[in-house]
Amino acid sequence: MMLSVKNLEVRYGKLKALWGVNVDVNKGEIVGLIGPNGAGKTTTINSIIGFVKPEKGIILMEGRDITNLSITARIKAGISVVPEGRKVFPYLTVEENLLMGSVVGNWNRRKEALEFVYNLFPRLKERRKLFASQLSGGEQQMLVIARALMSRPKLVLVDEPTLGLAPKIVDQVYDIIKKIRDEEKITIFIADQNAEIVLKTADRAYVIENGKIVLEGDAASLMRNPLIVTTYLGV
Ligand code: ATP
Repeated sequence: MMLSVKNLEVRYGKLKALWGVNVDVNKGEIVGLIGPNGAGKTTTINSIIGFVKPEKGIILMEGRDITNLSITARIKAGISVVPEGRKVFPYLTVEENLLMGSVVGNWNRRKEALEFVYNLFPRLKERRKLFASQLSGGEQQMLVIARALMSRPKLVLVDEPTLGLAPKIVDQVYDIIKKIRDEEKITIFIADQNAEIVLKTADRAYVIENGKIVLEGDAASLMRNPLIVTTYLGV
């Protein structure tokens, strides 16, 4: 088992955002987390990487309890995150943005890491001297994904990578995510409101609503599930 989240409860002041969330991700899987705006997807991801401190629950990474570790220690344990909102450093170059991703955990091997990501993202290599602000939205999303790989993680948490991108670019983003898993054997946990693309790509998925997991299963059977079909696949 790569990641195991057990009975996670998170509160923001009076608002309870997660009510006992359980998620398991096996080594080598792509696992999706789908659900509407405000359901708790980002909160789940932020708890796993350590941006948010849960009120209750346990997070295990490869069997080790990381619930109380710092963000730095979690990155060193092999977790990396692609935050929502395409957060590039606009006035750093593409290459400088990438290097930021190796500051924690992998600075000594940043040259090899750069070679690794340029091999996966040749377009970023071509554009490495441009400011991130000069890239298109799709390229910026690729940059944020590539930056997350610079720490050479075992598990990447991807938050809402396609919001506001054109359908063709959405497919490209998911193609690269699949490639990262298929060729590099990196495990992926991906949150997205776009159920269709997640279920096309993932092995398994969880559906979260109002801070609770309401459905889980393999992607193919979720695709046929009546709740998914009517609520999430726009039929
Ligand atoms: P989105 O697709 O909008 O990112 P989400 O499924 O990721 O939605 P969360 O961002 O995890 O949902 O939000 C879950 C709930 O917690 C929502 O009701 C949201 O308003 C609330 N929330 C999120 N972050 C905070 C915060 N920092 N302070 C207070 N409430 C928050």
